[in-house]
Amino acid sequence: MADPYSKLVTSRYGRQLANRLGLPTPTPLRRYRPGDPLVSGPVLLGEAEGGRLGKAVSETLREADAEVHRSRDDDAEYAALVFDATGIAGSTELGELHEFFGATIRRVSKCGRLIVLGTPPEEIDDPAERTAQRALEGFVRTAGKELKRGATAQLVHVSRGGERAIDSTLRFLLSSKSAFVSGQVIRVGAAEAPTVDAARPLRDKVALVTGASRGIGAAIAETLARDGAHVVCLDVPAQGEDLAEVANRIGGSTLQLDITAEDAPRQLIEHVEQRHDGLDIVVHNAGITRDKTIGRMSRDQWEAVLRVNLAAQERINTALLADSSPLRSGGRLVGIASISGIAGNVGQANYATSKAGVIGHVQALAPRAAERGVTINAVAPGFIETAMTAAVPLFVREAGRRMNSLSQGGLPVDVAETIAYYADPGSAGVNGNVIRVCGQSLLGA
Ligand code: NAD
Repeated sequence: MADPYSKLVTSRYGRQLANRLGLPTPTPLRRYRPGDPLVSGPVLLGEAEGGRLGKAVSETLREADAEVHRSRDDDAEYAALVFDATGIAGSTELGELHEFFGATIRRVSKCGRLIVLGTPPEEIDDPAERTAQRALEGFVRTAGKELKRGATAQLVHVSRGGERAIDSTLRFLLSSKSAFVSGQVIRVGAAEAPTVDAARPLRDKVALVTGASRGIGAAIAETLARDGAHVVCLDVPAQGEDLAEVANRIGGSTLQLDITAEDAPRQLIEHVEQRHDGLDIVVHNAGITRDKTIGRMSRDQWEAVLRVNLAAQERINTALLADSSPLRSGGRLVGIASISGIAGNVGQANYATSKAGVIGHVQALAPRAAERGVTINAVAPGFIETAMTAAVPLFVREAGRRMNSLSQGGLPVDVAETIAYYADPGSAGVNGNVIRVCGQSLLGA
């Protein structure tokens, strides 16, 4: 589903013209299809001396039948470069990054992957080691900007004790499920993560997705159903017909409910208790915009956005984390933020406030969720091709699409795949994260 500009510059003459004018030539991103192998070529593994994750990485790659190289082959083109940097204990050792990637980064294949593994700096006491581990971020974010042809770069911070919990994160980042995720720092905490059937990781799980009648919500519902979950699709009664269509297509069920209603948390919980044994995954996707600059925005426009985008999910999550709730241990709560909530956006003070609030909510609840064996995380989408962004004026839309390392907009499925990764039972150590699904947008941090 290429946009008109991408179609033009990937045609033979369009590409020549774009190259001559120095315009971006986006590479069509590879997206996951069931049955695809984890990686489509050899993976080169490297390790700084004293690294603690080599064994776990090898296990994931062995399970996936990947071809693993441990020393550089100058003729190979690599589907992924993975470097365990947890052994780097001081700034003088950072040269090992250059040693490994300097000679190999140009050998990364189309839509290839670069992954660096480190230790969360805030968990390190020794100042020299903490400094060096924090420095990895600058390297990875730059690699994301230098990589070409749809390739991505990520840093994974793995806590001590999280060594056996990184499988789902590696599978997500290596695969084409993370097509539009780049330049991110993902934290995996200490946890015991169960092994799952990678083809149907959500088998026997019950998920609920708000705003599921269209756009990103419909894609989330489809993706969770593909992974084996029964999905309760929720939307306002006015969207009932579209909602039923989505639920029928994926073998799910519907719940017509306005999430801002006074008794919405109780209605939602009653619905689940009457029809299911419990609930495993809740995705707060419903969201609205009422754009106006601050001086022109009415109090109603402000309140409407804050109520739907933030207050409704705060109330529902509070009810779901209470003792009597149907949310089972191993549960997953997911919020949708936005890069507007990170960078701010003209005309969106209400929306950006609500979305920054979603990030705050996730961070505030993560410790309490962990006590119940639950995780809470958020995604922050950048420019995603939906009805919402199709309504943006042409020039603003073009700028939004191109201002990222991959020079294109993402698809609803890219947001959905990131949520499916959070929902995976193997992601037990992934808590309190906010992953941007933005192709490494130039907006924000
Ligand atoms: P959309 O408008 O197509 O869909 C939103 C859905 O939420 C609709 O079906 C709507 O009926 C439902 N909804 C609204 N208010 C509700 C309520 N009170 N109760 C129940 N359901 C309600 O939007 P989308 O583009 O698919 O966006 C989905 C989410 O992603 C939103 O939270 C949005 O803020 C976020 N997001 C989108 C983009 C983008 O580029 N499209 C970027 C960043 C974040």
